[in-house]
Amino acid sequence: MKTKLEYIWLDGYEPAPNLRSKTKIVAFDGEPTLEDVPVWNFDGSSTRQADGSSSDCFLQPVALFPDPGRANAMLVMCEVLLPDGTPHPTNSRASIPDDPDAWFGFEQEYFLYKDGRPLGFPADGFPGPQGEYYTGVGFKNVGDVARDIVDAHIDLCLAAGIDLEGVNAEVAKGQWEFQIFGKGSRRAADEVWIARYLLLRLCERYGIDINFHPKPLGIEHDWNGSGMHCNFSTKRMRDVGGETYFAALMTAFDDRKDDHIAVYGPDNDMRLTGLHETAAIDEFTYGVANRGASIRIPWSFVQNGYRGYLEDRRPNSLGDPYCIAGRILQTITEADMALAVDEAVAA
Ligand code: ADP
Ligand code: MN
Ligand code: MN
Ligand code: MN
Repeated sequence: MKTKLEYIWLDGYEPAPNLRSKTKIVAFDGEPTLEDVPVWNFDGSSTRQADGSSSDCFLQPVALFPDPGRANAMLVMCEVLLPDGTPHPTNSRASIPDDPDAWFGFEQEYFLYKDGRPLGFPADGFPGPQGEYYTGVGFKNVGDVARDIVDAHIDLCLAAGIDLEGVNAEVAKGQWEFQIFGKGSRRAADEVWIARYLLLRLCERYGIDINFHPKPLGIEHDWNGSGMHCNFSTKRMRDVGGETYFAALMTAFDDRKDDHIAVYGPDNDMRLTGLHETAAIDEFTYGVANRGASIRIPWSFVQNGYRGYLEDRRPNSLGDPYCIAGRILQTITEADMALAVDEAVAA
């Protein structure tokens, strides 16, 4: 059967990549698997990934999803490779550590945008102040088409096999959130990118764009920014844990705080002000149920003897989930290695 394969990749734009995609029609006997999907190429000079003299970049398929938006179609998440087969410098997925026992839950916030402003904002001025929009119901809080879009996005994600766990209306008017869970840094981030792709594509027909900027309304107003909290747990955190181990993790995160902020999304200084349920960008803090800390410790974590998952609240909505999950896993691995050395010395 002829199958429409939508090859999806990240371009070379700074400070945050855009999603790109194009369609290839391929005939398969039966349902294709990832191994059946061919490598393809594109013009990197049009995506800030090559100059015109040698513009070929290669698309290596790395994950395959049913495409619920079209008949006989699949979504093909790709890594970008150089002609010699090595990862392109913009290929963040290739460079991160991975571990299927490291679990990630991303809370992607975003604004629906129409005519250059959040959906539901009047042409001049502002809607009523924040208060009732978060998890709100009713036309005055969510408007007319937002819920149709959000509901359709849920169904698209589920039909694509994405582990979308929930959605909610957020604090600002026109602002929403969806949550994606995945095992392994690559798989979890692949699913976030595909969920973003499906949302952007869905909204085309509504004349609506998704604004992923962490502070689209600027810092001068009292409107919330958008984050992408990253909840994480490793096997050791879930099965062993303990207060001493937790303290060692937090020391490692503190030591690495600048390295984390470096990959937690652009313009985060506009968002991480210490106001609006955020921590200050230049400090590392943690606390039980504390939504003003860099890392929030869920109550369940303490009740279970410092076992379970933690929430890093600093990553923002425009961040690259590959880099975010990769950095978190790297810092945990460094803490594990330092502890192993300590234990060897003590023994
Ligand atoms: P809140 O808005 O209160 O911060 P959400 O319910 O929006 O929390 O998101 C919680 C996230 O935590 C979900 O994405 C979920 O998948 C994730 N999560 C739950 N358990 C784990 C775990 N053991 N490891 C990693 N992530 C987890
Ligand atoms: Mn949430
Ligand atoms: Mn939220
Ligand atoms: Mn959260």
